[in-house]
Amino acid sequence: MSNAAFILLGSGAGPGAPSFFCDCVGCREAREHPAAIRTRSGALLTTAGQQVLIDTPPDLRQQLLRERVSDVDTLFITHWHYDHFGGIGELEYYVKLKRMQPITLYLPPSARELFHNAFPALEEIFTVQTWEFFRSYPLGELLITPLPARHSIETAGFMVSSPTVRLAYFPDTAGLPPETLPLVQGSDYLICDATFSGENWFPNSHMSIAEAIELGQQAEAKTVILTHISVHYSRPLTSVELQQQLAAHPHVRAAHDGMVIPLSGEGVKR
Ligand SMILES: [Zn+2]
Ligand SMILES: [Zn+2]
Ligand SMILES: [Zn+2]
Repeated sequence: MSNAAFILLGSGAGPGAPSFFCDCVGCREAREHPAAIRTRSGALLTTAGQQVLIDTPPDLRQQLLRERVSDVDTLFITHWHYDHFGGIGELEYYVKLKRMQPITLYLPPSARELFHNAFPALEEIFTVQTWEFFRSYPLGELLITPLPARHSIETAGFMVSSPTVRLAYFPDTAGLPPETLPLVQGSDYLICDATFSGENWFPNSHMSIAEAIELGQQAEAKTVILTHISVHYSRPLTSVELQQQLAAHPHVRAAHDGMVIPLSGEGVKR
């Protein structure tokens, strides 16, 4: 098995942490301690000779610099919300100046026209395709499969399978639809939406930390990793407080920016 890995480039919800307009305890902690910064949610899948991005959040440039990523071959977009596509233009000069050939871009079917209207000048940067729910796309030794999430617009989560590890990535979802849950059942990792601390303001689009933990139990995931964490809503939360809350749940971890999950069955490295 090669050194395939899943790297969380960002672990924050739409506003990120710190937010320029906010001075809550979560934002103050992130201003004082860079390890508590949460850029917007996205991931990088690395496998033999292939670098695959899941989403291009507005923080993409900083994320790629931070993780020393120098090549991108394929891009999958979960859904057409700004916090997940806003950094797509950051790939333009990489393609024009270094790669010299388009990146394969898999969009949600409902986003094909929206992409074209919003970024006509980026069409030449990508070979644009649309993903299909339940279809598996081979990437070296890995398979990536878009599965329906429960969110305000058409949204995928991705099931990533290596010969030894099954990882489900659902950054924006409120629970899982009945057609998805059985396919995620018993995953080694469920990385899921835990936007809200305290009350969930958007119960049809996102989860609270408590709901994410409950979904992990329902899906019998071996390890649950909470991501898309707001820190502001509905009760401001520091990462220190979050760690204290999770102490009672040994199989649940909070994501952090730069978290690496090996897909060769050795456990989380950092
Ligand atoms: Zn805040
Ligand atoms: Zn969303
Ligand atoms: Zn989001």
